[in-house]
Amino acid sequence: MGISLPGCGPDSTPFRRAIVTGGCGFVGSHLCDLLLDSGVDVVCVDNFLTSTADNVVHRQPDDRFELLIHDVTDPISIPGDVDLVLHLASPASPQDYLRLPVETLQVGSLGTFNALEVAREKQARFVLASTSEVYGDPLQHPQRESYWGNVNPVGPRSVYDEAKRFAEAATTAYRTKHGVDTAIVRIFNTFGPRMRAEDGRAVPTFIRQALTGEPLTVTGDGSQTRSLCYVDDTVRAILAVAAGSQPGPVNLGNPAETTVLELAHLVRELSCSAAPIEFIDRPADDPGRRRPDIALAWEQFGWKPETDLRKGLSTTIDWFATQLNDTAARER
Ligand code: NAD
Repeated sequence: MGISLPGCGPDSTPFRRAIVTGGCGFVGSHLCDLLLDSGVDVVCVDNFLTSTADNVVHRQPDDRFELLIHDVTDPISIPGDVDLVLHLASPASPQDYLRLPVETLQVGSLGTFNALEVAREKQARFVLASTSEVYGDPLQHPQRESYWGNVNPVGPRSVYDEAKRFAEAATTAYRTKHGVDTAIVRIFNTFGPRMRAEDGRAVPTFIRQALTGEPLTVTGDGSQTRSLCYVDDTVRAILAVAAGSQPGPVNLGNPAETTVLELAHLVRELSCSAAPIEFIDRPADDPGRRRPDIALAWEQFGWKPETDLRKGLSTTIDWFATQLNDTAARER
């Protein structure tokens, strides 16, 4: 991956062995890579609900990496010492959580309790991967951690938003009641290699369309904005928070805002694609604007994103192009 944990490395990492729930997913697999590259042994726990082993297959020959195929809504039992639990297991793309509403609520509730129990048993630092979706359809812009959000508990996105809000409450209760050393990170839109081409989010959708010559489908008039953070920056931030002692919640994201239409044009340009842009209906629950205020992440953890959108998109486009070529070669 070419990045390492600040202040950490094989000789100085504060952790020896970490559990990553959801470690086969997009963000989780990059976290497994960064931990292993920083000298931390990894137990990756995943049930392949929205992933396969593809994202971690390159790590499997390493005996410092263990893959446990397990549903974290069932109690988690892992022998040996563990000093860090990173809880990422959860469907994350709207397409996935709308298809898997009950599983999403269960992993946010039962799964979070089980992950917290392991941290309590092992006396490990615990980090919950929460989301900007806890702010719902925000009435404040940009969003600060002190904002409580504007979520409709019976709205279309509620299964995800409320699962994460519950997970934040459970994490806070384990800190106050059981003294577990917890932290909450609120991750904003992240993109990069290993996203699934069909997961429905704007970046992989535009890249897939641009590379295959299909029209890039912009919803509405494309004036709605996104704040997109490259995955290397996100995982570096998660581990910076893990290595600290503050509980959060802390926003992690890139405050640079771009409109969806600008994003489509940029993907088209960077892919050297002649595919047209087509305007389609905008989903009712599509967020208009969301942008993180990341002053706290900078103040407490010295973190800010370093990869600009063009650079991150170019790397991501290259990765998708290789995947598409490999698939085409296999089919020949
Ligand atoms: P992903 O779907 O790629 O990964 C989620 C992983 O969790 C998958 O490997 C899935 O199989 C696993 N999983 C789901 N339910 C499970 C269960 N019951 N037991 C074991 N494993 C289970 O999603 P992602 O984009 O990598 O997101 C990872 C985490 O980060 C999620 O918690 C998500 O809410 C959070 N997050 C991501 C983003 C983003 O932009 N990607 C933004 C905000 C928050």
